[in-house]
Amino acid sequence: MSNNDGLTKRTASFAGIGHSPELALELLEKIPAHVWSMNSAGRFIYRNRSMEDYFGAGLPRDQLDWLERVHSEDQRYVASSWRQSIETGQPFDSAHRLCGVDGAFRWFRASGRPSMDQHGQINIWHGQTIDIEHQKRAEENLRARSVELSLLVDMVPSNLWRLTPDGTTTLVNKRMADYLGLELSNVSDVASVMDTIFHPDDADAVFAELTRCLATGERFSMRYRLLRADGMYRWMSGRAEPLQDQDGNIVQWFGLCHDIEDQVQATAALRRSAEKLAQATQAANLSQLSASIAHEINQPLAAIAANSDACLRWLSADPPNVERGKLAAQRITQDVLVAAEVISRIRALFKHQPQARTIEDANRLVTEVLDLMSDEIAATTTRIDTDLDLHLPAVQLDRVQVQQVLVNLIRNGIQAMDSTDPLRSLKIRSCLERHDMIRVSIEDSGHGFADPERVFEPFFTTKINGMGMGLPICRSIVESHGGRMWVVNNETVGATVAFTLPVAVAG
Ligand code: ADP
Repeated sequence: MSNNDGLTKRTASFAGIGHSPELALELLEKIPAHVWSMNSAGRFIYRNRSMEDYFGAGLPRDQLDWLERVHSEDQRYVASSWRQSIETGQPFDSAHRLCGVDGAFRWFRASGRPSMDQHGQINIWHGQTIDIEHQKRAEENLRARSVELSLLVDMVPSNLWRLTPDGTTTLVNKRMADYLGLELSNVSDVASVMDTIFHPDDADAVFAELTRCLATGERFSMRYRLLRADGMYRWMSGRAEPLQDQDGNIVQWFGLCHDIEDQVQATAALRRSAEKLAQATQAANLSQLSASIAHEINQPLAAIAANSDACLRWLSADPPNVERGKLAAQRITQDVLVAAEVISRIRALFKHQPQARTIEDANRLVTEVLDLMSDEIAATTTRIDTDLDLHLPAVQLDRVQVQQVLVNLIRNGIQAMDSTDPLRSLKIRSCLERHDMIRVSIEDSGHGFADPERVFEPFFTTKINGMGMGLPICRSIVESHGGRMWVVNNETVGATVAFTLPVAVAG
């Protein structure tokens, strides 16, 4: 069958549907896909313009062996499935690379169907071959990206996990599976060991917080100890965020936790040595101070004792020597004045030197101190809530001293709470006490003050290693700022320590 015969036949069949056959043919010729017909032996009867343009228009139609143009890597399966279609009449469908007239290969999807004659024999094959190069490239890019992404998920130096909105684990990365000693392929293993992977002291708090976050959609952020495959617990810093759909419904949770054991150990070691140093310095200061107080006071005391003896002796003589007795009494008065002077010099020593005071936002001081103490707080898994009045006026203060006050009060609060109580929490509030005073309070859920009347007495302590100087120093700092400090046991549980500071005067 010649080319023209094929075209004539086509034209005729278009005329049969009652529209313009020329238009239909033009459409067929120009359609941006290869459209073709072949005889039962697989030889071309018709190829449209797009196909000719791709393979080279100069080639006689019946001489094009399109299989030769198939990429060598695809040829075997394309040839065999085409052969099978020709033999059986099964529709042909294949994706393969074809070499164009420019020598470059592009991906195509070819599909063809046979038409049968009245004897049920294959008469003619009609088909189309569509350029799917872009689609293939996009698929390849997507595959490469997904491989890259899963590599990234596995290589990222953190444990990653995914949960359903009701908290069922649906994915963990390789690092996390290795950490827990589980098979990556079996994610349900994680769900089954969830109850045992947290340190017994942290598990309740972790589950309570996770349950709360799952219920409220709030971000999860906690530190806890996680059981490693070798049976060791290590400190982790864990976070999780919900992923929401357009309507704001949570569709899943993504979480990650990273190992902070070394950091926690290093901070704890640092804190232990800092505490030892502070205690040693305090002890050294105190013993030095008491030695010098004793030395300074001992001298007038010794003189008073000697002069009292002398006075007694002069007055008990027979006859009494009143003049010498008077002189001795005068020396006693002088020695008493010397002792009083020593005392007032020591008091002056304790008075705070006037420091450079700056205008500060008390809320910022609170958050700075919480940042400074974050490791200490995390190590005790204490929950900190803040309720800070955002419209608090500025205060004029010595920031280092007031930070010291906050550190002391927060530390006291934490120490007052049972370290095994999963509900231990500290609430820090700030508010306006009156128009010219702000108030900061630290409320804990601990054992409360055993003796609230005495806590500001120097050296009053109920702790084995306590100095009993924290609260007196805090109060004297607050008072030197023109504020007030007090303690109160809460009605239900724990205690509150509060202090006021005067609002900075403008100008
Ligand atoms: P120290 O902490 O060295 O004992 P402080 O002057 O800071 O010295 O505290 C004195 C005492 O006050 C503590 O030993 C403790 O008995 C009590 N105390 C302090 N803060 C609290 C608190 N938040 N809850 C209960 N008791 C506290």
